[in-house]
Amino acid sequence: MNLATRMSRLGTETAFEVLAKAKALEKQGKHVIHLEIGEPDFDTPGNIIKAAVDALHQGFTHYNPAPGFPEVREAIIAEINKTRKLNLTADNVVVTPGAKPIMFFVIMALIEKGDEAIYPNPGFPIYESVINFSGGKAVPLPLLEENDFGFDLDYFESLVTDKTKLIIINSPHNPTGGVLTKEQLQRIAEIATKRGIWVLADEIYSRTLYNIKHESITQFSGMTDRTILLDGLSKTYAMTGWRLGYGVMPVEMAKWITQMAINCYSCTNAFSQQAIIEAYQGPQEEPEKMVAEFARRRQFIVDGLNAIPNISCKMPPGAFYAFPNIRKTGHTSRDLENDLLQQAGVAVLSGTAFGEYGDGHLRLSYANSIDNIKIALERIADYLQK
Ligand code: PLP
Repeated sequence: MNLATRMSRLGTETAFEVLAKAKALEKQGKHVIHLEIGEPDFDTPGNIIKAAVDALHQGFTHYNPAPGFPEVREAIIAEINKTRKLNLTADNVVVTPGAKPIMFFVIMALIEKGDEAIYPNPGFPIYESVINFSGGKAVPLPLLEENDFGFDLDYFESLVTDKTKLIIINSPHNPTGGVLTKEQLQRIAEIATKRGIWVLADEIYSRTLYNIKHESITQFSGMTDRTILLDGLSKTYAMTGWRLGYGVMPVEMAKWITQMAINCYSCTNAFSQQAIIEAYQGPQEEPEKMVAEFARRRQFIVDGLNAIPNISCKMPPGAFYAFPNIRKTGHTSRDLENDLLQQAGVAVLSGTAFGEYGDGHLRLSYANSIDNIKIALERIADYLQK
């Protein structure tokens, strides 16, 4: 096809590939339990849907300011200031179609050949993909089970060089469900400040936490000058298909990210954006109920996995993923992903879908009903017993 060479460096998110394979099997009449895709199975709360429908009728059907409507950015920054105890303004916010463009734009804006970016591995696959695409060097920071999937700070510090321009952190973390402690974040902040490094803080799961409080790296002195905080509506309000996310960043950076948005898609959907105001200012019972239900499922799936011989699973403090260790089963992660789908009718992801250090694990999304999780666990146990 004579593509630009940079295309050979672009990776992908295999969750969508496994989903497509699972759908193809379903078309052939096979029954598949979906534990592969990371999206809440709940409906978007009715008050939020109504706000978008009202906005459509009110004529929010045109282009709008590239960084987002001022009143929407006000609502976002009020939420961020309240939850992260900051004092930023709407000028710090850029609204995007889903949170993913923030990742793409920030990495492309900061990294080029000769630069290094440290990212969590296993981690959301788009980090590594876009760093490679940018021409910079992707430097993996292994998140290991023995460290509760947190940062090994000494090792992290040893990875920092004069070329390090960006550190990506994701807490609560996909795929492990791990969180970075306040002390770990403080140390990362100190290193970033001392070495003049940008931080991309992916906090998309900040509200999906079980009995602990979310800690943001932005709380540490000077960090709002060098952090792009990524968050959005997808996971918290079951709005993955609405494509609503945002970045909170220094004003100068917001100008550049806006310019990238103009080059790419002009602006975020007008009527769906209006629903952000209702999401943040309206009643919060529905998202709270979702987290309570996730907590029930978390216990169920972790207990169920630990009851299967040769599988062990730590209790994840956040997000909605279990990341069991499957090394003792004798299967590789990739083979097990494939066999469970083809032979047992359970769609899960290999830990290696999140990078080489995910080897020996599977990721199971528990954004599915307890009934379905129960069937999936039985099928996994039966398959492994054969
Ligand atoms: N960051 C992480 C860690 C994620 O897991 C996801 C989605 O799976 C995103 C960002 C992207 O969110 P959005 O769907 O809003 O683009």
